[in-house]
Amino acid sequence: MKNNFLSTKVKTLLTGQKKTWELLRNNYEQLSQVKVRTFTFHDFKIEIQFNPGRIISSSAKVDKRSIQARKCFLCIENLPEVQQKLAFGKDYLILCNPYPIFREHFTIPKLNHIQQEIKGNFEAMLDISKELDALTVFYNGPECGASAPDHFHFQAGNKFFMPVENEYENLKQKAGKAWFINETISVYGIKDYLRKFVSLESNNKSSLLKTFNLIYAELETKAPSGQEPLLNILASFHDERWRIILFPRSKHRPSQYFNKGTKNILISPAAVDMGGVFIIPQEKDFNKITKENIIDIFRQISVSDRYFKDLKTAVQKRII
Ligand SMILES: [Zn+2]
Repeated sequence: MKNNFLSTKVKTLLTGQKKTWELLRNNYEQLSQVKVRTFTFHDFKIEIQFNPGRIISSSAKVDKRSIQARKCFLCIENLPEVQQKLAFGKDYLILCNPYPIFREHFTIPKLNHIQQEIKGNFEAMLDISKELDALTVFYNGPECGASAPDHFHFQAGNKFFMPVENEYENLKQKAGKAWFINETISVYGIKDYLRKFVSLESNNKSSLLKTFNLIYAELETKAPSGQEPLLNILASFHDERWRIILFPRSKHRPSQYFNKGTKNILISPAAVDMGGVFIIPQEKDFNKITKENIIDIFRQISVSDRYFKDLKTAVQKRII
């Protein structure tokens, strides 16, 4: 870990906000006593975090009308007075997230109010994850967990908090299929993990950008026209290399979200859930969720075997 200037400033920002912002301080105190359940599968685990503070995000209405009816909470003029900010380059702000999931949790919005769309913004994800290398930067698509789909933003939290980050090397070795490898980049597909993902590893930014764009272009052909393909992305930087984990999605919220009565589970899966930590804001769900529910939720929100196989074939054709 580099002890670079911005990493230090970000830590100082959070320490300061814990002193001056009561809501944030209270939520961080609650997080320190958060209840967690762990479900073990063969080679990996899924954690369930009971986090009542996340109810706002999990139940957020993200339809156009609801979005238009509220003030954007990421626009600089609407931030609470107590909220302090750091600049990242000339386009981004770094803010402390007052509803944390991680011990250190940041929201990184663009200064401009423009819609959530990774196309054209992936390079910034690489830059931010390299600079803030104690953190993993993540992106939730506008229909994959972003509670502000109208204002472009990333989030960042402590590296290795999500199980997938610790399980990655083992998964790759045992179940990873190399989609493409050359001297600058490795692309793998992982499918027997309840959910599926594509990983990109490289120390070469332009190669990552090019390959990401190829994969994205293919995902785009499979998405309804004019809509961003459903996805979540994790980006981290260690040992002088980036590691990108891209989860293509087939839907935003599972049937459990909409079910009534005892079958209801309020879960609105985003990058952290895909990374292996289910964020559950209601205690009733935290207590009752089962291994079968986890398997079923991933089956619904991750892409099918067929989709993933076709994606692999198409990406290989594009790359080679
Ligand atoms: Zn905004």
